[in-house]
Amino acid sequence: MPKKEGIEKLIRPELATFGGYSAATSPETLEGKIEVHIASIIKLDANENLYGCSPRVMRALASYPNFNIYPDDGQTRLRKLLEGYSGVNARHIVAGGGSNQLIDLVLRLFISPGDEVINCVPTFGIYRFSAELCGGSLVEVSRDENFAVNVSAVKAAITKKTKIIFLANPNNPTGTLIPQSDILELLDIGVPVLVDEAYYEFSGETIAPLVSQYQNLMVLRTFSKWAGLAGLRVGYGLFPPKIADYLLRIKMPYNVNVAALVAVEESLKDIDYLMDTVKAIVRERDRLFSELGKVEWLKPFPSQANFIFCQVLKGKAGEIRQKLQEKGILIRYFDQPLLRNFIRISVGKPEHTDTLMKALRETGGS
Ligand SMILES: *Cc1c(COP(=O)(O)O)cnc(C)c1O
Repeated sequence: MPKKEGIEKLIRPELATFGGYSAATSPETLEGKIEVHIASIIKLDANENLYGCSPRVMRALASYPNFNIYPDDGQTRLRKLLEGYSGVNARHIVAGGGSNQLIDLVLRLFISPGDEVINCVPTFGIYRFSAELCGGSLVEVSRDENFAVNVSAVKAAITKKTKIIFLANPNNPTGTLIPQSDILELLDIGVPVLVDEAYYEFSGETIAPLVSQYQNLMVLRTFSKWAGLAGLRVGYGLFPPKIADYLLRIKMPYNVNVAALVAVEESLKDIDYLMDTVKAIVRERDRLFSELGKVEWLKPFPSQANFIFCQVLKGKAGEIRQKLQEKGILIRYFDQPLLRNFIRISVGKPEHTDTLMKALRETGGS
């Protein structure tokens, strides 16, 4: 490692090798680098909702008069709205600037340096990112060949230092669900279990009604995916009331902005419209799955979320991503030890599937 000088010598030494998080590509960074105009880029790399948010959100934000005033730090109205939507009492609820912020907050609450975090890999990268930032020690338990959680291996990995078990349900990037009986088996051990339901509206499966019955169950949700509000950064968690109180105390003041509050309120008033787009995406997911299955060099995995994960059987995932990007279509690719040669494609509208499939046929397998 090169010798650190000046101010760099003063940073926390354990962060000197910290890799950060590789976020999705922003179309504006591709300006001038690809043939296609950035306005016509098809973004299938971050599981965003290509139907957009509710039109009610746009109207309400355009006429909102109080952007000069801080939001309510106690999130009173927001938590009440989320109670109505989730069916879980507001005293269990804490909202965040994206559910990512709540992942970070939960880890900060539980993790002292050296404490262990169990991660069922491959899974969402933020768990590792935040755990390492807190000085936590990651204990990785591999999923099986169909990406199901290996419950007995998770149990065997628990030690006195285990502070939290992460379960993304459905899992990102694989789209896999974990059966409720498996979650209950882990909950019964007593270690805190965080179930990340970022894709709940697409899967229809939730453990939220059990939050009031367990001292160690936490559930995260987000408005980023189903409600088309990724850019406004708003998510929430359902916690045991004592944990919710601690989280409210350690969060940054005013952590959910006023625009996000307005957007949540309007989205919940337009739930029928939004759930129609969710249904359209689920229908399209099933069509995309069968289309991808017809490509002989791809192996798609069944998904309960708004994306499809595929193994690339012939050719290179990175090259496929690159060739699609040149045609103005963005997808995610993975080439890491547990994810050798995979791609993840978000589900868009039918016309996006058509454009993608045409481009894929022109592209890969070589
Ligand atoms: C997209 C995603 C989130 C959402 O993060 P936000 O910060 O709410 O945008 C959380 N968990 C998983 C597993 C995700 O895929």
